Amino acid sequence: MTGTLTNWAGNITYAAEELHRPASLAALRALVARSTRVRVLGSGHSFNRIAEPGPDGVLLSLAALPPAIDVDTAARTVRVSGGVRYAELARAVHAKGFALHNMASLPHISVAGSVATGTHGSGVANGSLASAVREIELVTADGSPLTVGRGDDRFDGTVTALGALGVVTALTLDVEPDFEVSQHVFTELPLEGLDFETVAASAYSVSLFTDWERPGFRQVWLKRRTDQPLPDFPWAEPATEAMHPVPGMPARNCTRQFGVPGPWHERLPHFRAEFTPSSGSELQSEYLLARSDALAALHALDAIRGTIAPLLQICEVRTVAADRQWLSPAYGRDTVALHFTWVDDTEAVLPVVRSVERALEPFAPRPHWGKVFAVPPEILRERYARMTDFRTLVDGLDPAGTFTNAFVADLLPPRS
Ligand SMILES: Cc1cc2nc3c(=O)[nH]c(=O)nc-3n(C[C@H](O)[C@H](O)[C@H](O)COP(=O)(O)OP(=O)(O)OC[C@H]3O[C@@H](n4cnc5c(N)ncnc54)[C@H](O)[C@@H]3O)c2cc1C
Repeated sequence: MTGTLTNWAGNITYAAEELHRPASLAALRALVARSTRVRVLGSGHSFNRIAEPGPDGVLLSLAALPPAIDVDTAARTVRVSGGVRYAELARAVHAKGFALHNMASLPHISVAGSVATGTHGSGVANGSLASAVREIELVTADGSPLTVGRGDDRFDGTVTALGALGVVTALTLDVEPDFEVSQHVFTELPLEGLDFETVAASAYSVSLFTDWERPGFRQVWLKRRTDQPLPDFPWAEPATEAMHPVPGMPARNCTRQFGVPGPWHERLPHFRAEFTPSSGSELQSEYLLARSDALAALHALDAIRGTIAPLLQICEVRTVAADRQWLSPAYGRDTVALHFTWVDDTEAVLPVVRSVERALEPFAPRPHWGKVFAVPPEILRERYARMTDFRTLVDGLDPAGTFTNAFVADLLPPRS
């Protein structure tokens, strides 16, 4: 029984009959083949029941499988096994003189779990983490292996797939030559007169943070590649001390600031691998919408900041380049991502989440798959043009629904 197995945030106790940790690929394949309901648990950093198999299902951890991280210098790729986290992957890629194009705010999360939910960092030209994937290896419902690469008709439905197609045993990602990043923090950027496009494009990766206590942004984090020009940032004052985005949290938990250059993987995440990321006691929500609507959406949030602020630890605004994964929240549109770190109180937070969703409704936002949201499935389906293709993909690879838990079943359109 896994009655006490919870996610990282502790707001979800997974219902599952058993937790299995197969120690070999052969054992994993045999287990899947004889099971009727399976879900994989990555590093458990999602805030909802997306990973839950249900009371009669098997929850599968890949933690006991031998980890593999193989850099192919000539092909400029890295093949990484299904249980590995970005922290270990990034160190290994850097050691070989290469880099990933981007990272999320923390390196503690598994690669397979992150790309499954459309996890992203920031940068107007940076796609979600899934956009680096060029090949995916799965164990499908009958226990057989399947490799799907770019160019395969199914590929764009297979990476950001919410764990619904099978167990991801390995991923091959694009890498690029190693680069350095320097991080610069500014304070008090006004919302009035904000030229969002220019600010968002003023460095390789840009994040705006606000507590919504008053209009405007308390902090702006610029992550500049040192092989690109020094950003001019005339709209706010440079910070005079090292900062943590969440008020009251220690800056030593964060990656180095004040423009000190360092390896990409020690600057692109906000939080250092050896410390608790974010505040550690929280819920999160995030909504992704067209970047061209960013300013209007920020004003819509400003109009309800009296509702948001009391339950909020911090709100972060980032950008994501359009990608091609059918279920990616950044599918087909250059995106602004509006993130909320709430206090750790589901009952109090849910009504505010609904208020945020009402305020953002005109912009047809797509919620982050791994965070707290209340948008009903029928509305979600309208926001993903390829949802029916995804249903066809699921039916083809997993006709009995071994990997379809309640979260996925609610989402899939009815069979026509
Ligand atoms: C402190 C904190 C900061 C965060 N910052 C960011 C951020 O900067 N940007 C962002 O976009 N998100 C962020 N997130 C959200 C996080 O990236 C996602 O929830 C992500 O899915 C976490 O990966 P995981 O391995 O923990 O996934 P899990 O929660 O374990 O699983 C997520 C989904 O992936 C599936 N899955 C996992 N592994 C496999 C596998 N091997 N095969 C098949 N399916 C699999 C699961 O079944 C589930 O459906 C943050 C979360 C936290 C807690």
